[in-house]
Amino acid sequence: MTPAAPPPRETVGLVIPLYNEEAVLPLLIDEIEAFRQDHPEVQQIVLVDDGSTDATARLARDLTAGKPGYVLIRFSRNFGHQLAITAGMEAVRTDAAVIMDADLQDPFWVVTEMIARWRQGYDVVYGVRKRREGETLFKRTATRLFYRLFQRLADVDAPLDTGDFRLVSRAVLDEYRRIQEQQPYVRGLIAWLGFNQTGIEYVRPGRAAGQTKYPFRKLLQLAVDGITAFSDRPLRYAARLGLVASALSMLGLVWVVIAKLVYGIPVSGWTSLMVTLFLFGGLQLFFLGVLGSYLARVFAEVRRRPRYIIRERWHSDADAGVPVPASSRPTAR
Ligand code: UDP
Ligand code: MG
Repeated sequence: MTPAAPPPRETVGLVIPLYNEEAVLPLLIDEIEAFRQDHPEVQQIVLVDDGSTDATARLARDLTAGKPGYVLIRFSRNFGHQLAITAGMEAVRTDAAVIMDADLQDPFWVVTEMIARWRQGYDVVYGVRKRREGETLFKRTATRLFYRLFQRLADVDAPLDTGDFRLVSRAVLDEYRRIQEQQPYVRGLIAWLGFNQTGIEYVRPGRAAGQTKYPFRKLLQLAVDGITAFSDRPLRYAARLGLVASALSMLGLVWVVIAKLVYGIPVSGWTSLMVTLFLFGGLQLFFLGVLGSYLARVFAEVRRRPRYIIRERWHSDADAGVPVPASSRPTAR
């Protein structure tokens, strides 16, 4: 079935998270403006400053003031990439939005293709990384392995080698707003939403400027969030492993008793004792950690804190062009 094509003249937005991106921001704004020359449907650009500690927020205002359609959302602190794009998707008002990184690793020619596919009627058009440039072998291998592990474990059908770079239609944006998970794993949730999805292959270039904002610690957290949100298999594997270990222990027990009664070997086997002790001690701690990851997720959901705090919203084409400081905004009290 070919889905009905949307009528022309529909608008497209860009959602771009920024965390300490002062080095790349001037290049980014130049690229966006160049892209808009050929794509007048790009009406809104939502920049989400995820608690940058450098000049990102000031620079974003200076570079975009007077240019039409820019919105700057400033978080009160660093809430993380996934929540930054979530806030952007909740704020954008266009008929479709493209989520992309600030560092120009997500090329604009792919965005052109995504818009074309959306016009053909697709609701989600994601970028598939055929190859990656300028990233360490370790990171490439780790992410490759993770995407495959995720596909094996998760209950949702997520495409391989696909990050958050994608176009989503208004229908998907509206449904996404309803999810409200505390630690959203955005690419998994969008796959979960369904609709007509398709991918575009591209070679992912290296960062245009600046350093990666994804240290190994954050990458690992993202992986854990993804798996705990979409699979309970690690818990079931733990139970199965426990059963197998108990069965083996029974055999071991029989052997030990026979050794004692028949062969009369009382004290020996200190080495095997230590090995089993360490092995099972390690396994127990590991699965306690796995259990803990799920528990932490449940705890976060139960607390129901706001997922992110916005300290300021600013529009590049607002009449006065002057931001309203958070402190002078009317409060509920
Ligand atoms: N980012 C963010 N908050 C964070 C970390 C990263 O908003 O805590 C943004 C960052 O500014 C960039 C995007 O997420 O626009 C992807 O980050 P980065 O390019 O550093 O990740 P990598 O491409 O190295 O995986
Ligand atoms: Mg990057």
